[in-house]
Amino acid sequence: MSSFTRRRFLSISAATLGASAAGTWSTAGLLDASTAPGEVKQIPTFCEMCFWRCGGIAHVRDGKLWKFEGNPRDPQSNGRLCPRGTGAVGAHYDPDRLRQPLMRVGERGKEQWKAVSWDEALAFVAERMNKIKAEHGPESVALFNHGFGQRFFQHVLKTWGVINYAGSSYAQCRGARDVGFLLTYGAGVGSPEPTDIKNTDCLVLIGSHLGENMHNSQVQEFAQAVERRASVIVVDPRFSVAASKAKYWLPVKPGTDLALILAWCNLLVQEGRYDKDFVAKHGHGFDKFVDAIKDNTVKWAAEQCDVSPELIVAAAREMASHRPATIVHPGRRVNWYGDDTQRSRGIALLNALLGNYGRKGGLFVAQGISMAPYGLNKYPEHARHRLDGAEADIYPFADEGITTAIRDATVSGKPYPIKGWFVYSTNLMQALPSEAETIKAIQNLDLLVVCETMPSEMAGWADVILPDTTFLERHDELLTGFGRNGWAALRQPVVAAPHEQKPAWWIAKELANKLGIGDCMPFKDLEEYLKVRVEKSGHSWEKLKTEGVIMAPHKPITVEEGLELEFGTPSGKVEFWSDQLAAKGFDAVPKYTKHPEAPPGSFRLITGRAPGHTFSRTQTNPLLHDLMPENEIWVNTATAARLGIRNREYVQLKNQDGVLSNRVRVKATQRIREDTVYMVYGFGHSNKLMKTAYLKGASAGQLNSSYRTDPIMGATSIHTNFVSLVKEA
Ligand code: SF4
Repeated sequence: MSSFTRRRFLSISAATLGASAAGTWSTAGLLDASTAPGEVKQIPTFCEMCFWRCGGIAHVRDGKLWKFEGNPRDPQSNGRLCPRGTGAVGAHYDPDRLRQPLMRVGERGKEQWKAVSWDEALAFVAERMNKIKAEHGPESVALFNHGFGQRFFQHVLKTWGVINYAGSSYAQCRGARDVGFLLTYGAGVGSPEPTDIKNTDCLVLIGSHLGENMHNSQVQEFAQAVERRASVIVVDPRFSVAASKAKYWLPVKPGTDLALILAWCNLLVQEGRYDKDFVAKHGHGFDKFVDAIKDNTVKWAAEQCDVSPELIVAAAREMASHRPATIVHPGRRVNWYGDDTQRSRGIALLNALLGNYGRKGGLFVAQGISMAPYGLNKYPEHARHRLDGAEADIYPFADEGITTAIRDATVSGKPYPIKGWFVYSTNLMQALPSEAETIKAIQNLDLLVVCETMPSEMAGWADVILPDTTFLERHDELLTGFGRNGWAALRQPVVAAPHEQKPAWWIAKELANKLGIGDCMPFKDLEEYLKVRVEKSGHSWEKLKTEGVIMAPHKPITVEEGLELEFGTPSGKVEFWSDQLAAKGFDAVPKYTKHPEAPPGSFRLITGRAPGHTFSRTQTNPLLHDLMPENEIWVNTATAARLGIRNREYVQLKNQDGVLSNRVRVKATQRIREDTVYMVYGFGHSNKLMKTAYLKGASAGQLNSSYRTDPIMGATSIHTNFVSLVKEA
C-alpha cells in the first residue's frame, strides 16, 4: 500500500476518532515463532474484536502480550488491523474482566454473587438442565450465541437435545439483507460481503457508513476506490465520514430509502439505462416488475424523501454511467423499520438492473475452501419443531434462528415452555429490542447461564456466570472463509488466561461430561481436533501454526475471469418478480409504505457504529475507552439553538414510551437533518462491575422499546423510536 493510500485509509477509518489503525512492517522473518528466551515471539491468530475475523500476529515478550498487528498473509487484514484489533491487547489486560465462575446468591438481577469452582458451577448447570429436560423436554432449553466460540456450545447442547438457538447477528443485524438477496438471486450475501470495491467505479452506500462501520479489508478497499477517484454516492440523513468522500450525498428523511430505490429503478428502466442484455438473459418477471414500479416517479420520491428531484436523477445517471462496475452496497446492519427484507430486495434489484452480478467492479461470486470435517456425532431427531424460522411458519423466509421468537415463547409458554437459557457472548439487554420484554422472559426461567468475558448487563441477570477467555487465550474452531479466494485461518492461544477463565471449547467439553454425553467431544483438547482436520485436508499443521492462514487456489469469481453465472432461485433466474413471496401473501415486487413521522418536539433516533468499539463489548477495554469513552447525541445546530442547548452540554433522551436514558453529551452539528438525532450504540452500561464504562453515555438499546418485526423473516427494527431532549436540572 502506498503511503498515500495508507493515509486515505486512516482518514476514512478514523476521521471521527483521530485514531491510528494501521501497522506496517517488514515481513522478513516475521512468522518465526521459535525465538530465544527474552526475545519477542510472534504468533498468528485471528481477531475476534469484531466478526470480520482479520488475521493478526500477536507479539509476546517474556510471556506477556505486547502488541497485536495484522498478518500480511491474511485476506481480511492484508497486514493491517483496525483500531479495535490493535486494541485487542487491552481486552487481555482489561481490569473489569470476569475472573472466576460465579453463582447468584440473592434475587435474580440483584447482582449478588459467590465465587465457586468450575466443578461446582458446571454440576449445578447440568443438574438444572436435567431437571428441565425431565419436566418439559430438552427443547425447553435455548441457546443465544454470538461469535466464534459458540461452536462447541452449540454442538454439545444440540447433542443433548437443544433445537432452539439463535444469534442476534441475524434478526438484529444482517438477516433481512441476506433474505432479500436470497429471494432475488438465490444466494445470500454472506460475510465478508463479496463487493469488488477495490475495482469499482461507483459505490452507492445506502445508510451504510463504511469507515465508521469498521470492517477492515472493506475499508481498505474503500480507501483505494476513493484514491482512484471512483464516484461515491451516499444516502444517509447524516453527513457521515463516507458522505464526506461522496460526489452525491442524499440526506433523505429516515424511513424513505425504499421510495428512493424504487424511483431509481423506475428511472433506469424509463431512460433505458439498465443492462438490457443481463435482464434479457437472466431476468425473471421483468415486465411485471416494470409495471409494479411505474408510479414510483422521481417527483414522487423527492416528496417522500425530502431531497431534490435533480439530485435523484443525477445520482441515478451517475451509477448507470459506470455499470457494470457500480455497486449498490447491500449493507450489513440493516434492520431499521421492520420492512427491511423488501428494502434489501429493492437494493438487490437495483444491482440487477446495473448488471453487476459476477462482474469486475461489481458483486463478485465468492469462493470458499474445502476442509475435512473431524467427524462428530449426528444430532437426535425431535418430535417438536423449532419455535422460530420457516419450520414454525411464523416468519416463512427465516433461514436462521430468531432471537425474539425464542424470547416470545419464553414469555408466553407457547407453543411449549422455554425454561432454560444459555447465553454465549451476547449482551441481550443491549442487542434485543425492548429491555422490558427481555426481563419479563428472564423471570420465567428456571436456569439462566451466561458465558462471557465481561460483566455485561446480561451477566447481571444470570444464575451462573462462566468466565470465558478472550480470543487471544484460546483455540477455536477452524475458520473457513469465502472471498476472492477461499481461506482457512487458525485461532490459537498466544498467552495464558490471567485468572480462572477457561476457553469456550473446554467449558463445553466439561459440561458434556457432566451431562453424560462426553463422547460427543472425542478429543483430548482442541489442538488435537484442529490438527486432525488440517492434516486430513492435506495441509501441514506446523505450517498453519506459524503462518496462520491457508489460501485456496483462485477460481473465477467474475464473468471477466470466465465464470458462468448460475442462480439458485426456483426459476433459475434473477427474480424481479418473486412467486415465492406472492405465494406467502407478500408483495412480489417491493412496495413503499410510509413510516410514522416524529411527533412535534421529538426526533427520529437513528444509530450506528464507531471505528473504535464493537457493539456493547469493548467499552471497558482501557485502550479503546481511551479512544472513545462515551457516545454523543448528534443534533442539528439549528435544532440545538432552538432548544437552547449548547454544544457538548449533557442532556437525557426520553422516548415515546417514557424511557429515560442516562446523560449523554450533545454534538451540535450541521451534519444531520433537523428531524433526526444520531448516536453510536453500545454505551450507557448499567452494570456497576463494568467500572470503566458504567453510566458513560446513553444506551440506544434501552431506548429501543418500540419495535416492529419484519413478517417475512423476523428482523426487529432499531430506528422506530422517537426521542425528545431533556435538559439537565
Ligand atoms: S475489523 Fe478490526 S476488530 Fe474486526 S476482526 Fe478486523 S481487526 Fe479485528
